[in-house]
Amino acid sequence: MPFNLHGLSVSNGISIGQAVVISSAALEVDHRFIEAGSEETEIRLLQEAFETARKELHNLKDNLPEDSPEEMAAFLDVHRMILEDPVLQKKPIELIKKRHYNAAWALTTELDEILLAFEEIDDPYLKERGADFRQVVERVLVALKGFNQIARIPALGQKDRHLSEVIIVAHDIAPHDMLRFKGLQFSAFVTDLGGRNSHTAIVARSLDIPAAVGVKGASQLIHQDDWLIVDGDRGIVIVDPNPVIIEEYRHRQAENLLAKNKLQLLKHTPTKTFDGVPVTLMANIELPEDAQQALESSAIGIGLFRSEFLFMNRQGELPNEEEQYRVYSNTVQVMQGLPVNIRTIDIGADKTLDGDIKALSSNISPLGLRGIRWSLSEPEIFLIQLRAILRASAHGSAQILIPMLAQAHEIHQCFELIKLAKSQLDDRAQAYNPQIKIGAMIELPAAVLVLPLFFKYFDFLSIGTNDLIQYTLGIDRSDNAVAHLYDPLHPAILKLLEQTISESRKANVPISVCGEMAGDPNVTRILLAMGLTNFSMHASQLLTVKKEILKANVTLLAQIVPRLLEAYEPADQEMLLKEILKV
Ligand code: PEP
Ligand code: MG
Repeated sequence: MPFNLHGLSVSNGISIGQAVVISSAALEVDHRFIEAGSEETEIRLLQEAFETARKELHNLKDNLPEDSPEEMAAFLDVHRMILEDPVLQKKPIELIKKRHYNAAWALTTELDEILLAFEEIDDPYLKERGADFRQVVERVLVALKGFNQIARIPALGQKDRHLSEVIIVAHDIAPHDMLRFKGLQFSAFVTDLGGRNSHTAIVARSLDIPAAVGVKGASQLIHQDDWLIVDGDRGIVIVDPNPVIIEEYRHRQAENLLAKNKLQLLKHTPTKTFDGVPVTLMANIELPEDAQQALESSAIGIGLFRSEFLFMNRQGELPNEEEQYRVYSNTVQVMQGLPVNIRTIDIGADKTLDGDIKALSSNISPLGLRGIRWSLSEPEIFLIQLRAILRASAHGSAQILIPMLAQAHEIHQCFELIKLAKSQLDDRAQAYNPQIKIGAMIELPAAVLVLPLFFKYFDFLSIGTNDLIQYTLGIDRSDNAVAHLYDPLHPAILKLLEQTISESRKANVPISVCGEMAGDPNVTRILLAMGLTNFSMHASQLLTVKKEILKANVTLLAQIVPRLLEAYEPADQEMLLKEILKV
């Protein structure tokens, strides 16, 4: 029986496939498909981890201090009984054999089933026993982690698996987990939580696959292997669709593909508005591997390299200067002399470090020690990154872009540290471009209100609309409960954008937009009308935006701006937006 679930559309397109439901617990463990033929090794790892956990429990019980409360021994016995019951291993072994899940994933999948069953029990005492299962499984997972490191099972999914029809369904996916999926080519994502401009959504968009977030209850209501249609255009998920619905969506899929192929024809068309204003389109990347795609999509530079993603998914050390230098210099070389804006680490809010280095960034709220604030509080780490970027500037057009600035003293400190990094390289006789360009992100309303301060120091500016909206409207961009209030067209946002673009142009300081608004074809004309001529977005959005630019008449559009800025009532604004679409 088909039913629909509704959420927020974050990445367009249609996907038809089968669900792989991943719990949030599962996301905290390594989860990947194992190679065919290695099932027995994986099962052995699982069994050995159970054995390690069992021995640990025995040891604990044998060494209990004499004055321990009686319940302690009973508690350990309960855990031992759970652990020794072969039923707990049965399903994970089946999952390893039949679905090729790795051991940790198989085990947490079973744990979820068990916890769900306990949830449904009315008796409050019995209900709480679910916690015992969780603790036992966690003990086994800890043991497994050790085994996995030794086993060095190939990372992530296997190329021979047909993942093109697999749809990931999860309660939530952290940005760094989303990044792990990057190599897997799943066909769509659905999550219970998340906002349209969370970093998870941004990474999903960069994968150019349909996705819906904020689909309440999806991970509970959808079961493993359920057939799904993800309508990314509307944020709808159809569960168990009938053949007629599938046929209808296959038709729409084919239409989308046709339109996408047609867009390719624009690849080499010069980017100019209808009335001849040249526009620069650059790409946003999260990982150095994305640079090639940026180049292929005819981006003329990287407007935003979110370098913090290099610092994620690492169990131990942060990337050292050599590693960063290699990554940045490779990227500038791939871009063949085109500018590459390497944004210094913007950790915090939904982007956290993990593993042993998690403590460095855990619990940084969006209003906390995020972005440049964190870098300035960790000057040694910041200096390493600055030296690496500077060294990369000897091989191409690397530029430094600094996030989350608002205060004059932060700007002064940044320049002091850049000066220090340069002198350290001089001492080592290492090459860099002494004229390297330094830019600032404009993503706090305070920054817009003191733009002349930024003009004084920076070679270029880039508007981070994702955060500018979050901080102006006071809305957590990752929280789906307030996602309906996250409005890029709020008159306050339009005023801040217009002010930043027009003042920068007057001051002759290059200005771009690298937030998600730059890649949204629905607002391209508004940004052009305000005088923006430099956009940076994910490579996958580039041609759609280009198509809008080619049709737009900036001279006429600009005439509508004064009225748009005064349109405080939604109805008035809507009328003007319709007018803008016609120009
Ligand atoms: C922004 O805030 O718009 C931006 C581009 O930076 P991020 O999305 O990484 O915070
Ligand atoms: Mg930002």
